[in-house]
Amino acid sequence: MHTSTLYDIPVSNHGARVRYLLYKKGLENDVQIQSPGKLGGLKSPEYTGLNPQGKMPLLVDDEFAVWEADAICRHILDKHATGPSFLPATLEARSTSEMLCRLHDAYIGPIQGAMYRAPPGVFGKFISRRAAIDELLEQLKVAESLAHPTGPYLTGPDVSLADATLMPTMVFFLHILPKYAESAPAPTAEPLDAAAGALGPRLLKWWVHMSQVDAEAMRVIEELKGGLDKWDEQGRWDTLLGAGVRDAEPPTIFDMILSGKIPSEIVYEDDVAIAFKDIAPAAPTHCLVIPRRRDGLSGLGAATGEHAGVLGHLMVVAAQVAKEQGLEDFRVVTNCGPSAGQTVPHIHLHVIGGRDLTWPPG
Ligand code: AMP
Repeated sequence: MHTSTLYDIPVSNHGARVRYLLYKKGLENDVQIQSPGKLGGLKSPEYTGLNPQGKMPLLVDDEFAVWEADAICRHILDKHATGPSFLPATLEARSTSEMLCRLHDAYIGPIQGAMYRAPPGVFGKFISRRAAIDELLEQLKVAESLAHPTGPYLTGPDVSLADATLMPTMVFFLHILPKYAESAPAPTAEPLDAAAGALGPRLLKWWVHMSQVDAEAMRVIEELKGGLDKWDEQGRWDTLLGAGVRDAEPPTIFDMILSGKIPSEIVYEDDVAIAFKDIAPAAPTHCLVIPRRRDGLSGLGAATGEHAGVLGHLMVVAAQVAKEQGLEDFRVVTNCGPSAGQTVPHIHLHVIGGRDLTWPPG
């Protein structure tokens, strides 16, 4: 008879970690799985009374509510001795499992939404979707360095919480990351071909085991894929920069300045932006601030929530350039469209000063 209820849905990534544990330990008769809809949905008073975060998954064991996938997994392992312990035999393997779980929950989980969420406010400390995705790829390299060389599980011969924790997110990585490749992969590419591009040899070997040998992992992977296939059908990627939306505009003279093909007097540069002196100054001081990656920002009129971080950064750089050029009073202008005076279709802020400026501008 069921003594506990897991509130979760098959496509949920964090819940998938718990489902793998339940399937692997043969606990489906002990823990029933129900949709949060049964309690009126994630934000209902009944649900938030049990999980104040209003998130999935939630385990209710008799009257006791446990939330956060890792805490739920540990509760289940503590309570049910049947099946695999998810604790590898050696201390080294157990600690490696802990490191992989923390790596996932502290460094990957909080930014994985950058692969699929719509802006604004989804890139956290990263300036753009691309920057967050680059960081996800870096974290995958860290996971590769921790993974066991021969496996078949992440820490060696025994299944551990690391496998349960990383496996669901890997389904997301392998399905979604190829969409962000600079040149989009062939639509017919086999999932493992796509995996080979994103994963190192250890993670790839592990993934072959999880997706082709481990029956319970295969079941969870199928559940998750169902949700991701629906996203594809519903056109989820059509508006996301780097996945569906690409910068297809021709290069401009600013690309030649950025690559150093033509000289310019650079007054500021960082990872995101550069500033250089305008070749035809309209005032004693006249600099241009541009993003290194245009990412569709041919002019301000093309701005979307995807660009909020970069646009904010350009303004901060403009202020810094003005200061460094010794300007106390200055004007920042961006022309958008030919009749507003735009001649280069790569967004740029003019920083102008050093003389009295009239208003309104012509
Ligand atoms: P806009 O007319 O607002 O599109 O601004 C384009 C600016 O780019 C103009 O002020 C030009 O003088 C400037 N510009 C064009 N080519 C160069 C170049 N090679 N180096 C520096 N500034 C340039």
